[in-house]
Order: sequence, then C-alpha cells, then structure tokens
Amino acid sequence: MSEKKNKPTDAVANIVSLSKRRGFVFQSSEIYGGLNGCWDYGPLGVELLKNIKEEWWKFMTYRDNVEGLDASILMHPKVWEASGHVENFTDPMIDCKQCKARFRLDVLGDSISEKKKEKALSELKNDFKDNPEILSRIEEKINNHGEDDPFNLLLEDEQVGKVLLSKLNCPQCGNANTFTEARKFNLMFKTFVGPVEDSGSVVYLRPETAQGIFVNFLNVQSSARQKLPFGIAQIGKAFRNEINTKNFLFRTREFEQMEMQFFVKPSEAKSWYDYWKVARLDWYKSLGMTASKLRYHDHIKLAHYAAAATDIEYEFPFGWGEIEGIHNRTDYDLSRHEQFSGKSLKYFDDETKEKYIPYIIETSAGASRSFMAFLIDAYYEEEVNGEMRSVLRFHPRLAPIKAAIFPLVNKDGMPEIAREIEKDLRRNFKVFYDDKGAVGRRYRRQDEAGTPFCITVDTQTLEDKTVTVRDRDTMQQERIAIDQLSRYLSDKLLS
Ligand code: ATP
Repeated sequence: MSEKKNKPTDAVANIVSLSKRRGFVFQSSEIYGGLNGCWDYGPLGVELLKNIKEEWWKFMTYRDNVEGLDASILMHPKVWEASGHVENFTDPMIDCKQCKARFRLDVLGDSISEKKKEKALSELKNDFKDNPEILSRIEEKINNHGEDDPFNLLLEDEQVGKVLLSKLNCPQCGNANTFTEARKFNLMFKTFVGPVEDSGSVVYLRPETAQGIFVNFLNVQSSARQKLPFGIAQIGKAFRNEINTKNFLFRTREFEQMEMQFFVKPSEAKSWYDYWKVARLDWYKSLGMTASKLRYHDHIKLAHYAAAATDIEYEFPFGWGEIEGIHNRTDYDLSRHEQFSGKSLKYFDDETKEKYIPYIIETSAGASRSFMAFLIDAYYEEEVNGEMRSVLRFHPRLAPIKAAIFPLVNKDGMPEIAREIEKDLRRNFKVFYDDKGAVGRRYRRQDEAGTPFCITVDTQTLEDKTVTVRDRDTMQQERIAIDQLSRYLSDKLLS
C-alpha cells in the first residue's frame, strides 16, 4: 500500500468539500448565500464535535480538583468593563474607499508581497531622512521587532503608519491611496436586554467563556467545598466580530471554547503552569494528533496581566496556528472583578489563616479550531490496489460513527442478523447500517466518514455466529463472535 498525504495547497479545499459532501460542516444559511464566519455542523460533524468536547470534559473534570460550570452567555455589562474588553478588545481597522473591503491594519502586511514591502520601507526611510528621531524609530522597529512583523508594527505607529499606508495598494482591488484612517473596532457583539434599545440596556454576547468562571469563583469554591488548588471548567459558545474571518473554522465569528481556570496559591503558580502546559499538549497526542505537527509557542511579549503564556500550535496546511492558549494570569482577573463589583473575591486559607486573591492558570482551547485540526490531521488520501481511497483516521473515541454493519447480501437471513447486531450495538454506540452496493464501496464510504470498524454478516455467520470486523487503518479483517462485539468495541474505545 503506498500512501500520499495531500499537498498543502489543496488540503483545506479538500477538507471543506469533504465536510460538505459527507455532512461534517455546512456553510451557515447556505441557501441565502451564507453568513460569513458562521458554520453549521452536520450529522457527522456534530458527533465529532461532541466527542472532542466529551473527551476534554472527561480529561479535565474527572479528577477531584476540577469542577464543571455552565454560565450564561449574556452577563452583566460591567463584567466586560472589569475584564478590559470594552476598552481593549479592539482591532485597528481600515477600509478601502474604492472597493469597500475592510482590513485589519495590524496584519495588513501579511497580504503584501515582500518586494512591495521592501520598496515601501525604503521610500518611507527616504521620506524621513531629514528627521533623525523618526528615522531612528523606524530603524529600531525594523531591527528589534521580536516576534512581530516590523512592517505591521510600522503600520500601527501613529506617526509613520499613515505615510506607509499611503504607499500601498489595496490587496483586493489593487487601487492606490484608497485607505481610510485607522479606527478602533470593538470585536464584541452588542445587543439589548428588554424592549428598549438604549444605552442602559446594552449587553454583549460573551467573547470568551472565562469571565463566567471568574465571577463564579467563590460560588463554586464554597458550594463544592474546594480548597486551593482547584479548577473550574466550562465549555460554551463565544462570539467575536472578527474583521477577517478565514481558513474555514480557524477564525469564525461564532465558535466554541473549552476553558479551565485553575486557582492556585501565588507561590505555586509557576509549577501549575508547567503542569498544565505538559498535560494539555499530551491530551492532543493521546487522541492521535500527529506529535510532529504540535508545538509550543512561548510568548516573549506578554499581556500586562500575564506572568507567562504559551500557545499550543498545530501545523495547518496554511502554517502553524494556535489551537489553545495556556496562561499564568496572576491575580489580575479576580482583583479587577473585586474592584468593579465591590465584592470581596478573596480566598480564606484555612491552614495559614491568610486571606488572599489566588493566581489563575488558564487553559483555553477552541473546540471548533481543535475540530478542524483533528479533521485535517486525520485526513489521508492513499492508493490501495491501484485505486485511491480517502480516509479519516480518527481515534476511535473521536470517530463520529464507531461501527458500520453490513449484510454481505440482502438474502439468506443475513439482513435480519445484521439488523439484530445493529439494534444491540446501538444501545451503547453510534452505529450505521448499510446494505447498498458492493461491500468494497461500503468500506470506502465508511473510510471517508472515519468509521474505525466495519462488521460484515456473511455465509459463515449463518454457520457459527461469527462476523468479520474490518479495521479502517490496516484494512485487516478478523472473525469475532456476535456476542463478543460489544466488548470488542468497548475495549477498542478504551485503548
Ligand atoms: P487568535 O490570536 O488566533 O485570535 P486568541 O489568542 O485571541 O486567538 P484566545 O482568546 O486565547 O485566542 O482564545 C482561546 C482559544 O479560542 C484559541 O486558542 C482558539 O482555539 C479559540 N478561538 C479564539 N478566537 C477564535 C475564532 N475567532 N474562531 C475560532 N476559534 C477561536
């Protein structure tokens, strides 16, 4: 069997088309032309997404020091003042006056060729050749840009940004000098509670699930009688009015997060940060994600509240991208909520008799981004006996359908036995019955859906009550007694 993974350039397009064809993901409101940045999960997709969330939930909360929570999406508007989102959750945005396309100023450089950037930069330096102060700032940004693209840093610079922008053509329509001035654009979706749409009734769709956890810290701690260190985990929808949605599920306007905030003594924050950093990367590997396509990206430049931060990145066909963030958020969040609510959020330490605000270690994963990473990682195209097959090699625990059941032919009592097996297995597993077409074609259909096991009732079944079980990845078959099938699948799902 020779094997070939798709070329990066068409891998995302292949996944988008397979997703639609097989019912993983559809464009939202497709019959109306779609709604940008929103996607719907079809019959297979909803199973995969549910399985990812279930695995996360088990891994994170089936331990004695993490509790679950499901907070509401709408929260008191002051929450978002305390969190800093009202003031700071903004992207600088520019519009093209000609074609009306909208761009994020801080990443505009990513869509401009290196050659054009070089030209614009040399012109910029020339424009400021008589102003040594500005010229040295330009040089400083070019030479000491850290992890950032110096071109983008200069675009965001108040004094030189405008001049640099005037040298660029719109990446969409190609016209020169058509950009508006940059404006701050808040990414939170605003809506109103109650019948009156005035400023007093403004609420926001939460842009992250974390704040629901912070404000419930003492409720959970006291009701669950937890002591530090302990965590609160939550899975839920978050909404961000992203200026540029892109790359399928990678950057969407509505998405799901799987977040856990771990409350610790300040002196233990570093060791817990290290613990969760390792534990979270291992989780992706334990569910079959290719180890060489996962890496940490430790932040050098930290947010003002963070003492340490890393991203777990996956190598998507379009490059490395964050799928989860792990942060030491210090006592920033609880202090801010204490300040804005006027309520004490201090923890009383029984042992030391001290009262203090705990530090927080956050693990914040995107369910939909992980979904995309698991889907892309599992996708292979390979040649089998001169024919191409597409296969999704999901870990059995993530696979939307655990087993498919086929009667070899639609006669001789085979369908009846197969239906009995289906009925029996369906009590515990998501299974699928298929009696259409040649068995080879039925296997291919299941390979493409990622079903790890195909069970076939054949002539020998009529004699000895055994069936063949074909493994999706090795394509090997073994004979299993019908009454052992349930145990067989359970064992495979536990491994
Ligand atoms: P990015 O820099 O990619 O916008 P972020 O640093 O703002 O991400 P966080 O606020 O740390 O992301 O959110 C935690 C996780 O939520 C991310 O690792 C990602 O998996 C997911 N996430 C964030 N924004 C989006 C989005 N627009 N669409 C899908 N998933 C998202």
